[in-house]
Amino acid sequence: MTRASISLRPDNATDLLIDGKLIPGSGGTFEVVNPATEEVIGQAAEGTSADMDAAIDAARRAFDQTDWSRNHAFRAHCLRQLRDALLAHADELRELTVAEVGCPTFLTHGPQLVGPITDLGYFADLAESYSWTTDLGEASPMGIKNRRELRAEAIGVVGAITPWNFPHQINFAKIGPALAAGCTVILKPAPDTPWCAALVGKVIAEETDFPPGVINIVTSTDHLLGAQLCTDPRVDLISFTGSTDTGRKVMAAAAPTLKKVFLELGGKSAFIVLDDADLGAACSMAAFSVVTHAGQGCAITTRLLVPRETLGAAVELTKNAMAGLAAADPTRPGTVCGPLISARQRERVEEYLRLARDEGGVIEVGGGRPADQEKGFFIEPTLISGLDNSARVAQEEIFGPVLVIVPHDGDQDAIDIANDSPYGLSGAVWGTDPDRINAVVDGVRTGTMGVNGGIWYSADVPFGGYKQSGIGREMGVAGFSEYLEIKAVATPV
Ligand code: NAD
Repeated sequence: MTRASISLRPDNATDLLIDGKLIPGSGGTFEVVNPATEEVIGQAAEGTSADMDAAIDAARRAFDQTDWSRNHAFRAHCLRQLRDALLAHADELRELTVAEVGCPTFLTHGPQLVGPITDLGYFADLAESYSWTTDLGEASPMGIKNRRELRAEAIGVVGAITPWNFPHQINFAKIGPALAAGCTVILKPAPDTPWCAALVGKVIAEETDFPPGVINIVTSTDHLLGAQLCTDPRVDLISFTGSTDTGRKVMAAAAPTLKKVFLELGGKSAFIVLDDADLGAACSMAAFSVVTHAGQGCAITTRLLVPRETLGAAVELTKNAMAGLAAADPTRPGTVCGPLISARQRERVEEYLRLARDEGGVIEVGGGRPADQEKGFFIEPTLISGLDNSARVAQEEIFGPVLVIVPHDGDQDAIDIANDSPYGLSGAVWGTDPDRINAVVDGVRTGTMGVNGGIWYSADVPFGGYKQSGIGREMGVAGFSEYLEIKAVATPV
């Protein structure tokens, strides 16, 4: 295999990857916009329903007619090859990712690029080390002695539907374990971030041994191509990350064919400060967390719950910390808060800021577009006080650099407020007494919790939500197992 450059087509566009071939979209192209400058930086292939049909067909044939699902060593080889090829292109990919996603450059050294690429190695290792068979020994049901064995098998064709906020992280958290498990995949990325997926498709086609049809990538502005994956009987599993509203549609669309649906959805996670915590350190961390990538992270803590008697001090500490983290050019070293992904997303956040004011909230800092940014979909880091947890801005996912501070009256009250949410994705607790911290960790109904700044994000840590934040877990052995079926085999002895 040769090492190509991550170049675009001469017309500055990317292609679809279907059945091992890079091809233009049947619908022409659509524009890719840099959210920090509002400039059109190029084009992506506009896939159509016919393209999606061809991709599903290719994935089905690759699963049914090749030994991909049974050749564990070959899958591990292809995944490591892809990891190494992408790492060799990391600098080119970094530039294009920051331009397309608007994410701060520092994040591309972690979860926005290099982290998830490196994690492909974890899934390659799992393909080889996983216990594909389990001996259950002998038993005599109905008086006849049998030897029983369990075999883990790939579930089949996976439709992976992803959002725009951490495109590489989410794309690889799906295709990594799905391919390692022996599935074949059709990836449909978000219309706002087609290049992150398409450039990976180019590397797959030109620099790896993945057989045709094993991985297909269909970019498009048409959300209904995602729905097509959900309804098509040739697809065995939908792995979806996105909003809770779309998650409901995905589940409903998949119901007639009763395919497995694995959902990673929204969040409104609470950052709980106990009365024995270092208030300054906690408020600084809460501020940093909510402005990172302009708050466009499903697991970001967006409700800050502080002891009532410290509310005034906590507001001062948090707003000062947020004021020092101004929204700025994401290519500039040191930027933590870049732009929102699109004008549409900025309008959505502005609508919530209006709503906060209408409901009687106080904007302590921020509250609008930064005066020093003439272009780009920026919103200032914003702290809202004066509302309780029933306010819409405390209940609904805003997906911007917006933090709502709410007072609590003790540890149990903090747990109750944290749980007073339709979501249950993540959370944080700050304190000193380990027993009190553990009681909070036990009491909050979420898939992940960070203690005193602890970072749970890692390839081997399952990630996912309780309640309306989703169904299933991504990453770790649990995430790998989502892509497997279990076959029980019995033989008379
Ligand atoms: P979205 O729900 O609008 O879109 C997600 C994907 O679904 C896109 O690829 C879109 O084209 C596709 N889609 C849209 N309508 C569809 C339909 N009817 N059927 C099938 N597919 C359809 O989400 P978004 O705005 O791109 O991303 C932001 C959301 O994603 C936030 O709610 C955020 O919390 C969530 N998110 C969750 C996680 C997690 O792991 N829990 C991670 C990141 C983002």
